[in-house]
Amino acid sequence: MPEEVLEQARDEMLDWHGAGMSVMEMSHRGKEFMSIAAMAEADLRELLAIPAHYKVLFLQGGATSQFSMVPQNLLGEKESADYIYTGQWSKKAIAEAGKFCRVNVAASSEDRKFTYVPQRESWRLDPAAAYVHVTSNETIGGVEYQWTPDVGEVPLVADMSSHLLSRPVDIEQYGVIYAGAQKNVGPAGLTIVIIREDLIGRAPPGTAAMADYKTHADSDSMYNTPPTYAIYVAGLVFQWLKRLGGLGAIEKINIAKAKLLYEYLDSTGFYDCPVAVADRSRMNVPFRIKDDTLDAEFLAQSKQQGLVQLKGHRSVGGMRASIYNAMPIEGVRTLVEFMREFERSHG
Ligand code: PMP
Repeated sequence: MPEEVLEQARDEMLDWHGAGMSVMEMSHRGKEFMSIAAMAEADLRELLAIPAHYKVLFLQGGATSQFSMVPQNLLGEKESADYIYTGQWSKKAIAEAGKFCRVNVAASSEDRKFTYVPQRESWRLDPAAAYVHVTSNETIGGVEYQWTPDVGEVPLVADMSSHLLSRPVDIEQYGVIYAGAQKNVGPAGLTIVIIREDLIGRAPPGTAAMADYKTHADSDSMYNTPPTYAIYVAGLVFQWLKRLGGLGAIEKINIAKAKLLYEYLDSTGFYDCPVAVADRSRMNVPFRIKDDTLDAEFLAQSKQQGLVQLKGHRSVGGMRASIYNAMPIEGVRTLVEFMREFERSHG
């Protein structure tokens, strides 16, 4: 979270704009909260330049709920969907979709331990598929699409959980974009869905109301009590991004941050980054010490310097620096300086 946003939330905690109550205490249908939610949506639409024929839904259940909501809502009369398998999160999306339809894994990077994005030319798409699903930033593997796949008329669905709002997106290339908020958007508890209107209303009869995009679209995401405080804080993040100059401005900062870290990793023989250069994530940078017996010491020493949460995901080991929007470039400089010093004393 950007520090400025946390400070603002603190200042407004007990009494929001003279309302005499905290945002947590407001009725979600009262005029104060309705204005907070409307402003958050308008700001998100402005930041991402979301066209009028797309709905923005503020839901709960995390990106994980979208793994099942996407097939339930998009299959219609179709029987299968295409998935691109690039790592741990697409694996989960595929497993969940398999409960609702036949999944065609149209391309996979499993052959090289999920360290790259398969080139579009190698994808074996099925023209009869209901949609094509990509995980556009694999948070654990640190693999990010630096391009938008062209999949023709079939709707493209993207799990953008870990890089939404880190860069501009051409929304019209997608049928559905979804993201859990807790990386660049705001606190956990809010899930964002951006969906082209013609894809709403296709869920079969018998679909649970909460799992049907139409329920939420028809009630402006207020079918039940929405995650009000998370929406409010996300709204503060959207305003922070607008003050910075929007997604073009944050993208420049993110490119500079990632460059600093990757250039250092590529300059040394002490560490290495397993991900193909063209597909490296600007948000999640996995790296290894070639002598992995030093991992524990690296983590202990970095923690002493205030550099925390650097342990790689348990499924891949090594280290991972997550450098989301709110991480200032100074934080990345401090990390690189620490890594250089660690190399000097152990290399
Ligand atoms: N997809 C991706 C790419 C993620 O990074 C995560 C969470 N880190 C998820 C899905 C799951 O999200 P949630 O915990 O919000 O369900």
